[in-house]
Amino acid sequence: MSTVEAGKVVSIHYVLRDDDGTELDRSDEASPMFYLHGAQNIVAGLEEKLAGSKVGDEVSVTVPPEKGYGPRNRGKTFQIPRSSLPATVTPTRGMQLFASGQDGQKVPVFITKVNGPTITVDPNHPLAGVTLHFDVKVVGLRDATDDEKTHGHAHGPDGHGHGH
Ligand code: ZN
Repeated sequence: MSTVEAGKVVSIHYVLRDDDGTELDRSDEASPMFYLHGAQNIVAGLEEKLAGSKVGDEVSVTVPPEKGYGPRNRGKTFQIPRSSLPATVTPTRGMQLFASGQDGQKVPVFITKVNGPTITVDPNHPLAGVTLHFDVKVVGLRDATDDEKTHGHAHGPDGHGHGH
């Protein structure tokens, strides 16, 4: 029986909670999440624990920030004018934007608050510094297609999930 290892596309149902048991995220009831194992599609701490699992296995994993979204060490929140965004973008909490860093490089920031013409952003990922508690059920496993291996991600149930 095949097991989760590099080069497999794995489908999972999952629930993610924080230390207080508050639910942060969960997979869609109707369709599991697909990922390519060994390609860092998911946080390192979860990927490590799922290795060797079989279809039907249920795995509970606690992932410290170092193996999750990292520590909160990327500076403080700051404000940007809403007018700096393209008119077609509707800013919402949690949305990722790219700010220009000191050297002109693009730095990801995450919206924490939208207040009229002012948007507050945080350079830290919303889950940085958070210990992640995953309850996972492995529901599917197949070999990755060549395209998936080249792209470094899964293409849905049959390997033809998207067209790039
Ligand atoms: Zn692709």
